[in-house]
Amino acid sequence: MSEIDDMIDPKGNKILLLLGNEAIARGVIEAGVASASTYPGTPSSEVGDVLYRVARKVGMRFEYSVNEKVALEVSFAASTLGLRSFVFMKHVGLNVAADALMSISYSGVKGGLVIMSADDPSMHSSQNEQDNRLYGQLAHIPVIEPSTPQEAKDFIISAFELSERYHIPVLFRTTTRVSHERSAVKTGPVAGIRKSISFDYGKMDFNSLPSLARQHKLNLERKMREIAHDERISLNRMIEREGSWGAITSGVGYSYLTDIIEEYDLPVSVLKLGLTNPLQDNIILDFMRKYNNIIIVEELDPYLETKIRALAQLNSISVKIYGKMDGYFPTDYEYDGNVVLRGVARAMGLKIDEKAPEPAVKVTPRPPVLCPGCPHRASFFIVKRALRMLKIDDAIISSDIGCYSLGALDPFDMGDIIISMGTSVGYSSGMVPEFGKRSVTFIGDSTLFHGGLPGIVNAVKNNAQTTIIVLDNRTTAMTGQQPTPSALDPTYEDDMKEISIESTLKGIGVSKVVEADPYDLKDMLHKVTDCLKTPGVTAIIAKRECAILRDRKIRRVSKIVPYHVIPDKCTGCFRCVTDFSCPAMSIKGNKVVIDAALCDGCGVCAERFVCPYGAIEVDENAE
Ligand code: SF4
Ligand code: SF4
Repeated sequence: MSEIDDMIDPKGNKILLLLGNEAIARGVIEAGVASASTYPGTPSSEVGDVLYRVARKVGMRFEYSVNEKVALEVSFAASTLGLRSFVFMKHVGLNVAADALMSISYSGVKGGLVIMSADDPSMHSSQNEQDNRLYGQLAHIPVIEPSTPQEAKDFIISAFELSERYHIPVLFRTTTRVSHERSAVKTGPVAGIRKSISFDYGKMDFNSLPSLARQHKLNLERKMREIAHDERISLNRMIEREGSWGAITSGVGYSYLTDIIEEYDLPVSVLKLGLTNPLQDNIILDFMRKYNNIIIVEELDPYLETKIRALAQLNSISVKIYGKMDGYFPTDYEYDGNVVLRGVARAMGLKIDEKAPEPAVKVTPRPPVLCPGCPHRASFFIVKRALRMLKIDDAIISSDIGCYSLGALDPFDMGDIIISMGTSVGYSSGMVPEFGKRSVTFIGDSTLFHGGLPGIVNAVKNNAQTTIIVLDNRTTAMTGQQPTPSALDPTYEDDMKEISIESTLKGIGVSKVVEADPYDLKDMLHKVTDCLKTPGVTAIIAKRECAILRDRKIRRVSKIVPYHVIPDKCTGCFRCVTDFSCPAMSIKGNKVVIDAALCDGCGVCAERFVCPYGAIEVDENAE
């Protein structure tokens, strides 16, 4: 049986080695979800990688939506028809979806609706590390937190049951280590997908007119009070040991804590919370009454700690609580075994030597760089040259979220502003005539549709002064090559409509819209300078497939033909390295060499703009 067969096997009862995110995908299949939607974002992307491959086989509808808000709305639509629906995203994606979420929580749902937020402590691939449990509190909806891949699968099914029992959306919150941990997961049987679709016309259940919203709010609060006392919910667990110490934890903190308790044989009982909003107060109060000292272990904000301290105070429980608020544990960054060990040892007054983590493989540190052959490198190179040629030294460079954020680094320095999805153009729409400033805006094709279009509308409306470089690499590259609205996957999205970036920008009223191939440096330079000289909002669509996609296609039918430097022609000026900076190039003695194993044969470095001496040529004889 293949991996995919195992993933969709209707009987289950197998042990599979799964990533947390893969386990979630299996849980979604077992739960009989009819509709799943997402906008890709690390650390949630692998859920989509699985569902994209298997959805049709199990009769589920799956889509990569234009952004997280629309993804939530798509899943909500399926829910209003009585179908189970699942929407997933990275933590900052929930900010985008939040506007809809805050009212969907009020209106409630019909078919179960589960919203997964994958948080990224330490910001491995994100611009912040917000703690999205707080969204549960803000929206008044349940929050479920798994600690292991097995729980990730099992709790998804519980989340749907809870959602349908109370007609409430449920927030399913993971962090990077839970989403990306791989361990054995026992599968269960697959529930059939509901076939009956119905909409309750005239009931106004999903209408948020103020007069109705006032009633929805009271209903919502009632549901949450009932959930807090629902004894059928079995997501919280107590592991008791002899001694006067207790610990309350959730998420990945539980795994680190139990490892430490076992390894050092500590007299600490543990209350592990799987339901972290609403807290089931009675369980926590019973636990606190048994122990004189309570340690709270949780990543990021003192979310549990704040509530538990309040609970102890309100119920006059005399207990010493150790957590983040009194400095025993940090509030920043991801936890690991040592962070938890340090906090526990300090709280308990123990002398325990920290273990230096011993990596199994020693990896040489590598700074992040654009890939060899990346078309964005050529775009940055040309824009920098065009600005220099036109003696424009006051343009603010506003960039966005994607691989091309790396353009902010040396040697391109193209990233004065990088904030969030679509902010590049929103920011540039503030470059209005009154301020006498201009900007150059970089935005990817997927990001443009996700959050960029309103900013462009605003820029055109306000006659802002900016040249937008749409880095159209025909995919959502950074999260694993997912399709975009302007570059569908014909093998899957054969019945969908592709949206033209050029027509969209022209329709909005961008005064000049031209398409260019970033590998053609001369033509690109001509078009960029022309746009920079034109007043108002202008745009260049720098269209060239992502180098990784191109490589894969070439390797399927032939091989990559690399380039090399002819030593006799190389003057050692090093302009190719300092100005263009392809990672396949390096300096050896007083010459430049190209590593054939890294070179992807794009040929851009052979153009005179990069090597004015014609020292770089294709190497037809390369091994
Ligand atoms: S730009 Fe050309 S001549 Fe100058 S170092 Fe590079 S390969 Fe040699
Ligand atoms: S051809 Fe030149 S620019 Fe392209 S990948 Fe190879 S070394 Fe880099």
